[in-house]
Amino acid sequence: MNILIANLGSTSFKYRLFRMEAGGAEVVAKGGYERVEDHAQVISDALDNLQNDGIINSPDEIDAVGFKTVLGKNLSGCVTADQQTIDALEGFAEVAPAHNPPYANGIRQFTKALPKAQLVALFETAFYQWIPEASINYAIPKAWREIGIRRYGFHGASHKFIAERSAELLGREDVAEAARRLYLDGPADFASAPLRIVSCHLGGSSSVTGIRNGVAIGTSMGFSPQSGLPQNNRVGDLDSGALPYAMRKLGISLEEAERQLTKEGGLQGLSGVSNDIRDISEAAEAGNSDARLTLDTLIHSIRHWIGAYMLELGGIDALVFTAGIGENNRDLREAVCRGLDGFGIRIDPEKNQACRAREADISADASTAKIFVIPANEELILAREVYRKLS
Ligand code: AMP
Repeated sequence: MNILIANLGSTSFKYRLFRMEAGGAEVVAKGGYERVEDHAQVISDALDNLQNDGIINSPDEIDAVGFKTVLGKNLSGCVTADQQTIDALEGFAEVAPAHNPPYANGIRQFTKALPKAQLVALFETAFYQWIPEASINYAIPKAWREIGIRRYGFHGASHKFIAERSAELLGREDVAEAARRLYLDGPADFASAPLRIVSCHLGGSSSVTGIRNGVAIGTSMGFSPQSGLPQNNRVGDLDSGALPYAMRKLGISLEEAERQLTKEGGLQGLSGVSNDIRDISEAAEAGNSDARLTLDTLIHSIRHWIGAYMLELGGIDALVFTAGIGENNRDLREAVCRGLDGFGIRIDPEKNQACRAREADISADASTAKIFVIPANEELILAREVYRKLS
């Protein structure tokens, strides 16, 4: 099965073509365009390139297109990308302005460009469909709840992959298989002791998710991607009382406050150096106290959420690090695990230092919980989910 994964931004289009079989996946082509003004044109160009390069003989050979959609109004899961999906994306365009409009537009364009292909949308919120209601509610007036304000969660594809892979690494093939089939069959029952995972997706955008038997029980991301951990330029959790106070004291409009919290907040805002953890670490080492404080704040926030889910899960079998920071930043991993021996979490400093951007068990022999680094590959995760849905 040929599955094209379309990654759409407001002025960008990137793609990977996967050849999927029951036994595995192969990337047979990839490409992309920046500063895009006409998405229909670059999609047509990409299809021409695939033919000119001899990857496909005709666009009809593309069986499916997968879209990693973020947030839909009254819609989640792994679904056929149709008009209902477009409406759901447009219904929440202002909550995810960088993501929803380009995906709504992209689905329209691909419907025209590849009328025979199956279009599939995998919502980033899909993994959180089974979270207990008590942990998705905010204590807000009914009218607010009725317009859809609640915790949704993001990075669902990445955390779901961690649910599958960590179960495999722990030798729990029963849980791994249930996790793989989650969007097809829903949660499974297990007679054995539950498998308890805390997954840390730490990148330009970050979240921590608690997972029991392959199913998310809670996540740090809330209503919008403006929540939870400090993000690269986005604020993360902020007391709602701070917004009106800052607007009045600083004399700024709602739009300006929103802009500052999305563009000038997060790691960038706190450090005043950069939104990239590499630059911030370098500055901290050179003695910049704001940069040091930024790292400490991020570490504190990660530990806060790990603690929350360890408690809810009643313990932990594996702590997992993934995404750009989680896979590469060894000092941060060590700092996150510091002093957690009492919870059965003990990192092996040498294994940790030796592990960069590859899968590894970095826990000490004496650690009762495993500590894993598992690389994320969002396109592959999406291609697998599309393949499962269609086959
Ligand atoms: P992601 O959004 O998953 O691509 O992660 C991006 C973030 O990962 C960047 O902001 C960097 O701070 C961090 N990162 C990526 N590569 C490295 C690396 N080699 N060493 C340390 N941090 C890295």
